[in-house]
Amino acid sequence: MEEYPGKVVEIIDYPSSQSIKARTIKIAVPETVSFAPGQFVMVANQSVKNKSFPDKLKWASMSVANAPSEKGIIELGMDMGEEGGIRHFVCTKLKVGDEMILKGPMGNFVCKDEPHQPVLIALGTGITPIISMARHTLETWPNTKVDLFYSLKTSEIYLFKDSLEKLAAQHPLFAMNVTVTREDNSWNGLRGRIQEHLKTYDFGDKTKRIFYLCGSPKGVTEIISVIKELGFSDDQIKKEQW
Ligand SMILES: Cc1cc2nc3c(=O)[nH]c(=O)nc-3n(C[C@H](O)[C@H](O)[C@H](O)COP(=O)(O)OP(=O)(O)OC[C@H]3O[C@@H](n4cnc5c(N)ncnc54)[C@H](O)[C@@H]3O)c2cc1C
Repeated sequence: MEEYPGKVVEIIDYPSSQSIKARTIKIAVPETVSFAPGQFVMVANQSVKNKSFPDKLKWASMSVANAPSEKGIIELGMDMGEEGGIRHFVCTKLKVGDEMILKGPMGNFVCKDEPHQPVLIALGTGITPIISMARHTLETWPNTKVDLFYSLKTSEIYLFKDSLEKLAAQHPLFAMNVTVTREDNSWNGLRGRIQEHLKTYDFGDKTKRIFYLCGSPKGVTEIISVIKELGFSDDQIKKEQW
């Protein structure tokens, strides 16, 4: 697969004022790069080598967070990760103006390209493909009902907070259900696991809904069993997990 260069043009830190736990970054790439909402790219940096093959680069899969209509930009979001990996490098060393190397896009976890009513479910950094789907759907069908369930450990790692709040302000049918699962005195919103909130949620016409889930395998599996208990079928459920 062909590699292409990218230049970092924006970095947002989470939390913004204490020690960084996660980052979102925008990378300028050739205008010819195009992707579907939900797909991922492989990213590398010249200074991060593969431990087993030190003359080779270390590559990491990262879902694309922006909408496909934003040409020439790939937006990513990640937590810190362990030392020696790409996420750790990005969160500790990367600066605006630095070069990254990319491959792709690839992946089959993509949003249906016809009018429907997505229920988007993100666990932590699983928000990356999910926000791409939200942006794309609301941009293409602005009057579509879109429900987001987004679980955070704490509010200081609320990736894409400003972008999501802006989307919600622009689209009255975009419902955000952001929940925090750990002790956090600064949070005034929902608490506890997504499963519990799904059980009492009004999905409207259930036949129109398609669920897209992204997050840890355990969390995704548990949530899917609740979705099925609620009467949704397998072909209404699409997932990505890592
Ligand atoms: C489709 C897909 C999309 C994804 N999207 C995202 C996303 O949007 N955001 C996100 O945060 N995560 C995402 N992930 C998860 C991410 O790709 C993994 O967590 C990946 O491992 C991150 O790579 P890394 O280099 O940061 O860390 P790791 O690969 O976990 O490396 C961390 C540690 O392992 C060591 N290590 C790595 N390779 C070797 C080796 N060969 N031998 C010995 N030690 C080694 C490293 O030195 C380092 O210490 C996605 C995964 C998939 C499959």
